[in-house]
Amino acid sequence: MRALTWQGTQKVSVETVPDPEIVNPRDAIIRVTATAICGSDLHLYDGVIPAMRPGDILGHEFMGEVVETGTDSTLQMGQRVVVPFTISCGGCFHCRITQFSACENSNPVEKQDMSEKLYGHPMAGIFGYSHMTGGYSGGQAEYVRVPFSDVGPIVVPDHLDDEKVLFLSDILPTGWMAAENAEIQPDDTVAVWGCGPVGLFAIQSAIAMGAARVIAIDHYPHRLELAKQLGAETINFRLTDVREALMEMSGGIGVDAVIDAVGMESHGFAVDNVIDIAKQKVGIGADRASALKQAILAVRFGGRVSVPGVYGGMTDKFPLGAVMEKGLQLRTGQTHVQRYMADLLAKIEGGEIDTTFLISHRLPLEEAADGYKCFKEAQDSWTKVVLKPGMAAGTA
Ligand SMILES: [Zn+2]
Ligand SMILES: [Zn+2]
Repeated sequence: MRALTWQGTQKVSVETVPDPEIVNPRDAIIRVTATAICGSDLHLYDGVIPAMRPGDILGHEFMGEVVETGTDSTLQMGQRVVVPFTISCGGCFHCRITQFSACENSNPVEKQDMSEKLYGHPMAGIFGYSHMTGGYSGGQAEYVRVPFSDVGPIVVPDHLDDEKVLFLSDILPTGWMAAENAEIQPDDTVAVWGCGPVGLFAIQSAIAMGAARVIAIDHYPHRLELAKQLGAETINFRLTDVREALMEMSGGIGVDAVIDAVGMESHGFAVDNVIDIAKQKVGIGADRASALKQAILAVRFGGRVSVPGVYGGMTDKFPLGAVMEKGLQLRTGQTHVQRYMADLLAKIEGGEIDTTFLISHRLPLEEAADGYKCFKEAQDSWTKVVLKPGMAAGTA
């Protein structure tokens, strides 16, 4: 089959690789009909996530048709399914309390060392996201093996197009959980850093949860325009002092909740951020966290800080004093996708949520490498790339 493979920093290519096979009775094989490139795939592309190997198949946002099932899979041939990016067994302590992204059984023992050293506990398995999270082949391919297929994938009705439901695999539940983690109350003012896909869906979710005002912060005009269309007020951080603007907009108190949808490759101008960039380049592993630092300073006393943005290592000069002195709540984590899929599918089916506005480009799988390059270099106009393995080359 054909698949998009990682070959090194900012080097990906579509190659012919062996077809996936059933290796466990709970597996299923999915023929991928649509798969998206995620902002967090750019962290792999940029080489800032460790434990990647040349030839690894990327992609953790995908859906398709069931074409083969193990004897213990509950899926049936021909069903259309969306697959959560988090791989979860369904039976361990964390899966039973719906903390699916903390599954204890999905990352094979031989892959657990690095994350256990870094975090104190091994990470769960994630599709197409380095050997630290299991080394699973991802879904930017014609076919993919889905472990624990009796737990994760959700069957979608035929009348809903791929583009309407694909984002249930990651970014829609991630935006929703980000808003949930911000514990939004009616009348709240919420500020969201980053108007990428997760930031935009967090804005949409915060408004759906009843936030009175949502303020979107970014520097890409088109992305800010999308935020505005969802109902947010906007701040361009290249033109405006963010903290001053937020203080003014919140009557001098500070905003009630903040969401960092940027993560570890945050842009910024502060001196510490420049040092972090240099350290990241030489492999010292400092996450750049200027958005999060700014968010912590902007939120009011007793406010909530929600972090859906991805961080992987250590961060220098983290304002822990502000977290303590202001009595802040900090909530974060990989999304427990399986917890949210059914409810969000019902909202999509009922017309309450539409995520298709985000898709800017549709490409055949064969053009995936161009998709990565453009998504990385033209972030303002390339808001979301959907790859379609069945689409003929040159038809984009
Ligand atoms: Zn993703
Ligand atoms: Zn589990």
